[in-house]
Amino acid sequence: QQILITGGTGFIGRDLCRALLSRDSTLTILSRQSPDAVRAVCGRVAVVNDLNELKNHGGFDAVINLAGEGIAEKRWTEARKRALTESRTGTTGQLVNVMKTWGRAPSVLVSGSAVGYYGDQGDQTVTESTSPVPEFTHQLCRDWENAALDAEPLGVRVCISRTGLVVGRNGGFLQQMIPPFRFGLGGRLGSGRQYMPWVHRSDVVAALLWMINTESAKGAYNMVSPAPVTNQEFTQTLAKVLHRPAFLPAPSMALKLALGEMARLLLTGQRAVPARLEEEGFRFQYRTLEPALREALNY
Ligand code: NDP
Repeated sequence: QQILITGGTGFIGRDLCRALLSRDSTLTILSRQSPDAVRAVCGRVAVVNDLNELKNHGGFDAVINLAGEGIAEKRWTEARKRALTESRTGTTGQLVNVMKTWGRAPSVLVSGSAVGYYGDQGDQTVTESTSPVPEFTHQLCRDWENAALDAEPLGVRVCISRTGLVVGRNGGFLQQMIPPFRFGLGGRLGSGRQYMPWVHRSDVVAALLWMINTESAKGAYNMVSPAPVTNQEFTQTLAKVLHRPAFLPAPSMALKLALGEMARLLLTGQRAVPARLEEEGFRFQYRTLEPALREALNY
C-alpha cells in the first residue's frame, strides 16, 4: 500500500510508521523537518515539506492525517488557539484540496480528532452519539473533523479518530505528568473526580491500521480504552506502578492560575468508551490501566 501521513514524526505517528513499514507499505511523510530528521524517527520513508509537491500526484491508497501543534504545550491565548486550529483545520483543508488533483482518490482518509470533541461531560458515559458541550476543544475538533469530511464527495471513505490520552514510552502526556511523581510530589488534580479516557499507543496504532483495512469502517470512533478511570484512580495506579507516594493534590485554583483556560484539559474530562470500535469487532490489547502503565513506563 502507498500511504501518505501527516504528523508522522509525532508520538503516535512514529510508531504507526514502524508498524506500516513492517507490513511493506510505502510511506510518504508530510513534515516541516528535513528528510534526514524525519527518517531518523520514521525509518525508510519519502518526505515532502509542502503539499504542493504532491499536486497532480498519481494517488495514494490511504492517507493518515495526524498533524497539529501540541495542545498542552503553551497557554491558550487567542493567538495560540488560532495556531492550534490552523495547524489542524488548515493542513486538513489543504490535504483535501491537493487530493482533488490526484490521478485517483485514496480509498480511505483516517483523520485525527480528540475526545475533547465532547467538551466537559462530567461522569456520564460518552459514546460517539453523545451530544458535545460547546467549548474551545469542541470547536477545534469539530472544525478539524469537518475539514476531513470534505473528502467524502471525492468518494473517499473518511474515518475520524477521537483520541483519548495516549500512554506509551518516550512522550505523550505521561512524560509531562511523571516528574513530580518520581520526586514523591505527585497527587490528584483538583477534585480527582474528572475522568481520564486513557488508551495505550499500541492499541491506537492497531486501531488506525484496522480503520485503513476495514472497508465498512466509516465516521467517528472514540479511540479510548474500554476502561476510563477517574484522575484519582489514575493517580493511585501511577503511584503504585512507580512505587511512589501520591498524596500531594494540586488544587484547582493553582492549576487555573498557572495554566489559564488550558487547565480544563486537566480538571475536566470525558468518561468516553470505544462503543463503535468494540461493536465493530476491534480487539484491544490493553483493556485495563495497570498493565498499560507498566508497559509504557517499563516498570
Ligand atoms: P505530536 O504532537 O507528537 O505530533 C504531531 C505532529 O504534527 C508533529 O510531529 C509535527 O510534525 C506536526 N505539527 C506540529 N505542529 C504543526 C504545525 N504548526 N503545522 C503542521 N504540522 C505540525 O502528536 P501525537 O502523535 O501525540 O498526536 C497526533 C495527533 O493526535 C495530534 O494532532 C494530537 O492533537 C492528536 N491527539 C493526541 C493525543 C495524545 O494523547 N497523544 C490525544 C488526543 C489527540 P513535523 O514536526 O514533522 O512537521
